[in-house]
Formats: sequence, structure tokens, C-alpha cells
Amino acid sequence: MEKILRDRRLYELLEKVDKDLALKAQVGGCEHCGGRLHRGDYPRKPRGDPGWERRYSLCCSGEGCRKRKTPPSVRFLGRKIYIGVVVVLVSAMVQGLSEGRVKRLRQELGIDRRTLKRWREWWMRIFVQSVFWRAERGRFRRRVVEEKLPLGLVRVFGASQREGLLNLMKFLSPISTNSCKEVMVM
Ligand SMILES: [Zn+2]
Repeated sequence: MEKILRDRRLYELLEKVDKDLALKAQVGGCEHCGGRLHRGDYPRKPRGDPGWERRYSLCCSGEGCRKRKTPPSVRFLGRKIYIGVVVVLVSAMVQGLSEGRVKRLRQELGIDRRTLKRWREWWMRIFVQSVFWRAERGRFRRRVVEEKLPLGLVRVFGASQREGLLNLMKFLSPISTNSCKEVMVM
């Protein structure tokens, strides 16, 4: 799983998917007034980053509306400071590892203990309870063990390979939008 985090092609593909998702959201127009949307990206400086500096976001041009629409993202999971693939894969990797190996992995990737703990709590409490997950969990033929998230999802999607990881990030992408505010925190 560690190797895939150095896969340049993966990051190119994720960026391309995000661009497509933003375009698609733009074509849909404003949900409130039907107005035209223009780009109003957020500057980001995520860690574990492949040089991504903008989180795509849209803004309504309608006078008196100006509402934002944040398209789903396969690169950013909510407001976390690390990019999504790191949050997913590292959280999964440490499940079942000995303390010593977790420490080595943390050091290699420069992630502190508190961050790892926060991610764990996010998966265990916020993600598991989310409307998104409760609506989606039934679609898997094999039951995904919730006590083992996100490892269960990584296995089901085969996300230690590029293709599977892309699919998993697509699956998770709605949680990065404003319609899923409850899971955005942390
Ligand atoms: Zn509008």
C-alpha cells in the first residue's frame, strides 16, 4: 500500500477526475436560482501533496444569490489537511500493525500520533454514523466490517492497486461536498 502513494500517475488521474467532477457540477448550474456558476476555487496547501493547490469550487453569478457549490472531490476528504488517499490508505495500513511498525510508518510519512488518532476517531464515529455511509453500506455484496474501517473498504475495492483506489475515492467523493457537512469536520 505504501508504494502506491508514490505513484505519479495516480495523482494525475485523481486530478483529472476532480476536474471532470467540477465541470459536471458547473454544467448543472446553481441549485438555488438556476444561475450560471463560475469558478471560485479555494486555495489549499494539503500535506502529503503532489502539488495540488486548489480545491475546485463554484460560485453562483446570480445577483443576490452568489451561493457556493462545492463539487465532489476524489483528492480532498472534507477539510482534512492531508490529501484523501493518505487519510484512507494510512488509516487502513495501521490497522493490525504492531506499535513499532506504526511508528516507523508515521515517521516515514511525517504524520504525528495525534493526527492518526483523529483519523481513527473520524472513521469510527463520524463516518460510520453518517447518512452517506448508512445509505451506501448495503450495496456491498460482502459485509464491510465497520470496526475495521477503512481497511474493510480498501479490501472490497482492491484499493492497494491504482484502479481500485481510484474507485474507492470516487465512492467516497460525495462526503467532500456541502450536502454532507456532518462528515466534513476534522
Ligand atoms: Zn444562484
